[in-house]
Amino acid sequence: MRLLLVEDDPILRQQLVEALRTAAYVVDSADNGIDGRHLGENEAYEAVILDLGLPQLDGLTVLRHWRRLGKTMPVLILTARDSWHEKVAGIDAGADDYLTKPFHVEELLARLRALIRRTGGHASAELSCGPLTLDTRNGRAAVDGRTLTLTSHEYRLLAYLLLHREQIVSRGELVEHLYAQDFDRDSNTVEVFIARLRKKLPPGLIETVRGLGYRLSAPQ
Ligand code: CA
Repeated sequence: MRLLLVEDDPILRQQLVEALRTAAYVVDSADNGIDGRHLGENEAYEAVILDLGLPQLDGLTVLRHWRRLGKTMPVLILTARDSWHEKVAGIDAGADDYLTKPFHVEELLARLRALIRRTGGHASAELSCGPLTLDTRNGRAAVDGRTLTLTSHEYRLLAYLLLHREQIVSRGELVEHLYAQDFDRDSNTVEVFIARLRKKLPPGLIETVRGLGYRLSAPQ
C-alpha cells in the first residue's frame, strides 16, 4: 500500500513516516504544497494524508486541483484545532476524512485502514479469499486459521491483491502501488515476490493471466 504524506512540520512528518512504515505502508512525503501536488498528480497512491496549512501552496488548493483532474484517491486532511470552517472547506473540496491536530497516530492508522477498505469496496477490516484471511488491523494473514509469516513486501503485495481480488492486476500496477518513488522499479522484482508468496499460499490462489498480470481468486 503506497501513501503520500504532505506535511510541512518536520517533526510530525518524520513521526508519521516512521509510524506508517512500521505499519507496512510505502510512504512518499513532501514538505510543501507544490511538491505534494506534483506527486499526487503523477504517482499512484492508495491514500493521501494532506495537511491544509502548507508553504508555497495551501492544501485546499492542492486538493481541488487533484479533484479537478479527476484524481479519486482517498484524501485525509489534517486541520488545525478549532477551525471547523477548514473541515467544511476541505470536505467540500473533496476530502474523504479529516483529523484535527493534535491526534494520536493510532487514530490516523485506523482511519487510513477504513478509507482504503471503503475505496476497495470492503466494509470489513478482515479481507478474505477462499481459505485465506488477512486482518488489516493487526496485519495477520492466515490460511485455514494458520498464521503465515510474511515479509513486509509480501504483506503489501498480498493486501493489494486481496483488495482487488477477482480482478486482473497488471505488473505495472503492482510496481506503482507497492514501491516508493525512489525505489528501483523493476517489474521483474514483482515476479520474484509473487513466486515467494505463492510458495506460502495454497496452490492456484494467485493465477497468472498471460500478458495481463495476476488474479487472486478463490479456487473453485
Ligand atoms: Ca502545516
